Amino acid sequence: METSTPDAPAARPRRNDEQRQSAKERQRAAYQADPEKYRAIQRAYRARNAEKCAARQWVSNEIQAGRLIRPTHCPKCGRVERVEAHHPDHSKPSEIEWLCRVCHFGEPNHSGEAVSERGRANAQARWSKASWAA
Ligand SMILES: [Zn+2]
Repeated sequence: METSTPDAPAARPRRNDEQRQSAKERQRAAYQADPEKYRAIQRAYRARNAEKCAARQWVSNEIQAGRLIRPTHCPKCGRVERVEAHHPDHSKPSEIEWLCRVCHFGEPNHSGEAVSERGRANAQARWSKASWAA
């Protein structure tokens, strides 16, 4: 039986905004130190998800050209926050359903991305705090 007790680990401080910011800065620094590494990761993602990326690009182009207008609130739940274009079928880029972040993550296509109620609540809190809501 172990008799010596190691020092209890210090309580881990909760991340505050300052620490969150520095995590963002670390990520930026890591990117700048080796951009090719991150571009390769992005290329690999696009190769694995070519159809999905093409569908997203189509939406982006249409919005940019003014042919598609992003609604100001979620047609499903009525939240006034950033509304995203959901593709039930990525092979049909023009068939979209506008959904807020919270509803979007609840869609079957995204069941692996964020399913917990807590995750949804956090996503909702983040989006409702975002600056474009102002
Ligand atoms: Zn919604």
